[in-house]
Amino acid sequence: MDIQVLDDNTINKIAAGEVIERPASALKELLENAADSGATRIDVSFDEGGKNLIKVVDNGSGIKPEQLRLALQRHATSKLKKIEDLNSIQTLGFRGEALASMGAVSELTLSSGTKGSAKGAKIKASGGKLSEVEPAASIEGTQVEVKNLFYNVPARQKFLKSSSGETAAIKKVFKNFALIHPEITVSLKQDQKQVFVYPKQDFFSRACDVLEVKKQDCFYLNETVDDMNLEAVLVHPKLNMATLMGLYIFVQTRPVQDKLIQQAVLEGYRNLVMEHQYPQAVVSLKVNPEFVDVNTHPSKLQVKFQNSSTIFKFINQSIKKVFESNLEKTINPVRVSFEQADIQPSFINEAPTQYNQKTFYNHQQGIFIPSEVSSVVNTAEPIKETKVHTWSSMQVIGQFANTYIVAQSQKGLLLIDQHAAHERVLFERLKNKSKIEKQASLIEELVELAPEKIEALLQENIQHALQNLGFEFYQRSPTHLALSTKPTFLLDVGMQNLFDRLSEQVLDAGSHSVLEDIITDVWASMSCHGAIRAGKVLSKEEMQALLVQMEENSFSSFCPHGRPVSVLLTQYDLEKLFKRIV
Ligand code: ADP
Ligand code: MG
Repeated sequence: MDIQVLDDNTINKIAAGEVIERPASALKELLENAADSGATRIDVSFDEGGKNLIKVVDNGSGIKPEQLRLALQRHATSKLKKIEDLNSIQTLGFRGEALASMGAVSELTLSSGTKGSAKGAKIKASGGKLSEVEPAASIEGTQVEVKNLFYNVPARQKFLKSSSGETAAIKKVFKNFALIHPEITVSLKQDQKQVFVYPKQDFFSRACDVLEVKKQDCFYLNETVDDMNLEAVLVHPKLNMATLMGLYIFVQTRPVQDKLIQQAVLEGYRNLVMEHQYPQAVVSLKVNPEFVDVNTHPSKLQVKFQNSSTIFKFINQSIKKVFESNLEKTINPVRVSFEQADIQPSFINEAPTQYNQKTFYNHQQGIFIPSEVSSVVNTAEPIKETKVHTWSSMQVIGQFANTYIVAQSQKGLLLIDQHAAHERVLFERLKNKSKIEKQASLIEELVELAPEKIEALLQENIQHALQNLGFEFYQRSPTHLALSTKPTFLLDVGMQNLFDRLSEQVLDAGSHSVLEDIITDVWASMSCHGAIRAGKVLSKEEMQALLVQMEENSFSSFCPHGRPVSVLLTQYDLEKLFKRIV
């Protein structure tokens, strides 16, 4: 067989397979071109998951008639002239391949007009064949119509998903774009129906709109350290999800799927969301371009960082700080949701009418701030009209199933998980290093551990941290540690189990873990082992005492494992349940 140079059409078809995998990738390219053209408004429509039609109209710079043909040629770009430009490139696309690729595998019409020109022009590409440039209706900006994608590449067409599968991918691309370009008005029509319109707005508002969450349920973060800037909108952990779908990550304004950043965000939410639940957030990281390699291949979403642990820490700690200063000192019981009974979440939204809004209710954060003065309500008395909703002002009614404290306040009926609540108390004490008393063991207490576990615990920083928590120990044999002191609140607790757990945590800590995170796990295990068990009978005094203890520290509404501590049923909820009101 003779060697032949492939013709352009064939080359374009092959390239198209790389750049344009599915309708959503065509949309991504078209949106990026529109943004690069300086558009302030972009309207997108698509039919049948984009398999039939994708149309993008922008009001950007437009293309001169004599350049229309060039725009559809491979390696034709206005964005990159020489290889050195690659390092400083600011625009989104620069390979000059997108339009040529789309033109090779669809029926594409490109119409455009520059500002002030009386007439527009258009050109068509069908399966790679270009038409003549024709005059067209006046337009300021560019319109690209991509019809019948892959009509001439049956192999590709077969791999496309159902219309709903492709629609999901298109919406994802659109949302990613909308999130990172709040300065552009964007709209999306699906099968002629308008599904999204986002007006030009700021980053925070756009994120709330796209995620469909209320502003008062979101925290804004904008932090710069050295060459790193993090802008983020963090959705309140009470609105977590079962998947990672609500987590949007951008690096240098590109959407990426990056494990490192994902992990850093999840760590930032640690102890606030339940296990196997994921937060919603929009996280945009910008770093000095020298320290990051954003893979320039258009369909790849990976990034490589030069200093990944610095970046991890920066993101993780910035997020933690937000929650530490905003979620503390709150009583924020998880509300019950009954499947059939359609109960509106009234606890948070009704609050301002019943409480002094300025002093005790923070609208932005949607939380209650307990007053400085709190009093224990005498259980014999009827509930007082106390102004503030605090733990200790709650009146204990009794215990249910030896596991839940049943209490009331003027807000409603509160169920408190005794184990989760006590666990939270202990956790906060350990965290704040308050009231950790230790006691020497009278008889030497031995725990048996595998040598690698012993080694893990004997690391200097770990041993030192544990000492501060009340544990003093030394190695007794290759497989035994001897405990000389332990924290008083753990006097009745089996040390073997606890030390098994602790040493596993130290061993399991990933390579990115900082000591602080390991210790957070240690606090969680210690408080879990030390807390009142579910099933333990408690007297009213013990229950009330627990509520008082809950007030001593800052609080969030989840136990250290992320389970809710309490659940509130308001009078309104009950009345709805009993159909007193409809
Ligand atoms: P690239 O974006 O990598 O340059 P494309 O094939 O996507 O390659 O586009 C080729 C060229 O066509 C661009 O460099 C740009 O000059 C022009 N172009 C494409 N889309 C638009 C648009 N919406 N508005 C103005 N110019 C455009
Ligand atoms: Mg492009």
